Amino acid sequence: MKGFTSPLWPIRYKPLQDELLSSWLVRLAHGHGLKVQTFCNLIFGNRLQVWNRDIDRLGPDWLVNELSVRTGTPLEIAYGTTLRAYEGLLYPQFKLSGVLQWILTLKMYHRKREGFGLQYCPQCLREGPEPYFRKSWRVAFNTVCVKHQCMLRDRCPNCGAGVAFHRRDIGHSDVAVSDSLAGCHHCGFDLAESVAESIISYDGQASNWHAELCQELMRGNSVKPVIDLDLISVIRQLAMLLTSSYSTLRLHAHVCDQLEVPEMQLTAGRVATETRHLHERHHLIQLIAWLMADLEPRLRTAWHAKAVRYNHLGKDFEGAPEWYLNLVKGFSDWRRDDLIQ
Ligand SMILES: [Zn+2]
Ligand SMILES: [Zn+2]
Repeated sequence: MKGFTSPLWPIRYKPLQDELLSSWLVRLAHGHGLKVQTFCNLIFGNRLQVWNRDIDRLGPDWLVNELSVRTGTPLEIAYGTTLRAYEGLLYPQFKLSGVLQWILTLKMYHRKREGFGLQYCPQCLREGPEPYFRKSWRVAFNTVCVKHQCMLRDRCPNCGAGVAFHRRDIGHSDVAVSDSLAGCHHCGFDLAESVAESIISYDGQASNWHAELCQELMRGNSVKPVIDLDLISVIRQLAMLLTSSYSTLRLHAHVCDQLEVPEMQLTAGRVATETRHLHERHHLIQLIAWLMADLEPRLRTAWHAKAVRYNHLGKDFEGAPEWYLNLVKGFSDWRRDDLIQ
């Protein structure tokens, strides 16, 4: 920062547990008594636009390196605040654009966020010395807070706006930099005061399976959680099968029937799981978790009921793990014909 000869900033907050890059950056700006835009202009100039892109996903070197050097944070920890840290864990390889498996999209439109790609737990926001936003809240299957046993939320309960805490003091001259990050950027409602809803569960075993999956995001350190990419890719394939519009694929109806839950009307068309709203994703992950809790027999029942065909199971599934391919081999269509005869 101008006026300081040391590379270190006067305020050198480190990222908090599982904190997102954008949250860390806004806290640093406010810590210096500056509004987000002023702080970024001062450090990066007007040339490098910070807020018109998904910086948590992109994790640009110039930004991460700067924060690392200026706050004395090890580079690995600084990178751990970006969604790139999930490379090889939630998706095979990082890419700049297009859908990244299991990473929620923000649908950026200039500085506005039109989507609902950042979730939060009201109780987590209430904890600790100050509210901040977690990296795991950008993960599409993470629809619950295991710690507080409640549903996450993906919008302001007061006005329905998506979460965009960095916009809180952009264009609001009356908002002080000391104001909490949990204030809704649109109406000012304190998101930490949102009512925590209890977890919607279709089946105890499935909910436990799902809770463990979400828990994996928090295991180890936040830089490299322990997640099995093979398993993560299989559940993504199941999400595809549950939302496919092929007329011969009726897995969604079948699983809802097995669980005796109403068949939710999902957003039609080719909609990626990562752009679906929270209630749709939670519904889908419940069905997936139920299948995964006892995969072979449950898929077999679906296959016998002709709710899914062999050629669907491996369709467009690049890098399918060996165990999954072996499992679905048992459902090749000639075997069914064999059984019927
Ligand atoms: Zn929580
Ligand atoms: Zn609001």
